[in-house]
Amino acid sequence: MAYQCPRCNGEVTRGSSSSAWALGGLVGVLLFSAFGSMRCERCGPIPRSEFPPEVRTEMLIGTLAYVAVAALLFIGVLYVLTLLH
Ligand SMILES: [Zn+2]
Repeated sequence: MAYQCPRCNGEVTRGSSSSAWALGGLVGVLLFSAFGSMRCERCGPIPRSEFPPEVRTEMLIGTLAYVAVAALLFIGVLYVLTLLH
């Protein structure tokens, strides 16, 4: 998911997730992607408050989707564990 930088109109991506893998595996990556800061290649980290409202709404929906996927994965794992017992 890419967004446009409010300063230089370049491409903004969610923060790198390599360290998130060490923290919590797949769920860590999902949570990091959901709540991590946005980053422009030229300007560095961009606070969400600098983005226009419609982009922030889009980000919020993206964040909720990430959280939903993380929750579903968690529930799925619990379900499988319950079946095994
Ligand atoms: Zn920029």
